[in-house]
Formats: sequence, structure tokens, C-alpha cells
Amino acid sequence: MTSDFEAQLRAVSLRVTRPRLAVLAALRDHPHVDTDRVIELVRAGQPTVSHQTVYDVLRALTDSGLVRRIQPAGATARYESRVEDNHHHVVCRSCGAIADVDCTVGHAPCLTASDDHGFVVDEAEVVYWGTCPGCATTRMTSWPASSEGNK
Ligand SMILES: [Zn+2]
Ligand SMILES: [Zn+2]
Repeated sequence: MTSDFEAQLRAVSLRVTRPRLAVLAALRDHPHVDTDRVIELVRAGQPTVSHQTVYDVLRALTDSGLVRRIQPAGATARYESRVEDNHHHVVCRSCGAIADVDCTVGHAPCLTASDDHGFVVDEAEVVYWGTCPGCATTRMTSWPASSEGNK
């Protein structure tokens, strides 16, 4: 189980440590969580791990490419371990929920710039914004105020 993570760490020349393994496991089971949630998840199994250790682990894993950091405008940074493809995210404007959206054409960059200004473009960062099913349901049942007498 953890041997996959050990192999991943070794592949990018990172030392195998328990906090690093715990962060990778947490992100596999809980994609798109922020730093506070990662700390919570890691501490559930290793109560003595410090905040600073988790920050350091996240930075090392992100720098090495094992973890992807995403930061939708106005939201806290989230982390995920699905790094092997060019997928996008759909973000709920109400509650900040995030879900994966497969790349529109299957490879980066999936959008062609109307004018690349001579740059060699290798990635297009796409974020879809909207309302998640949970928030959409809440909105529909609480609005409009029950003028139709259904309560
Ligand atoms: Zn929502
Ligand atoms: Zn994702």
C-alpha cells in the first residue's frame, strides 16, 4: 500500500519519511484539500507532526511534481496528487467545492490562444466556475420565498 508512495518519493530523489507518506495518502483519499485539512488528516495518524512539517512536506512534494497546488481566485490553496494529466477544475462559487474535469482535448494546452505573442504556449489553466449540486438544491428550495404556498 505505502510502497507505491515510497517508490514515488524515491523516483524524485526525496527521502522516504512518515509525514511525506502520510501527506501522499491523505491527498490520494481526499483530493483538493487545503493545508489545514491536510494537517488534520496527517495528525489523525501521527498526532505529533507539526504544522511546519506539513507545510515543508507540501512544498517539497509540490516542487518535486508529486503534488499539484491549485489556487482558484479568492480561495485558499488546495492540493491534489493527480498530477499525471492536464485536467481542469470546476469550482462552486458558493461553497468552494472543487471537482476534476478531464482535459477538454486530452493534452495540454487544450486551448489555442487567439494571439500567442510569439510565446511558446505549453499550458492553458482553465477553471470552470459555477454552482455545485448541493448549493443549487439549497438555492432552489429556499428561493423564491414560498409565495406558491408549498410550505
Ligand atoms: Zn457549493
Ligand atoms: Zn484535480
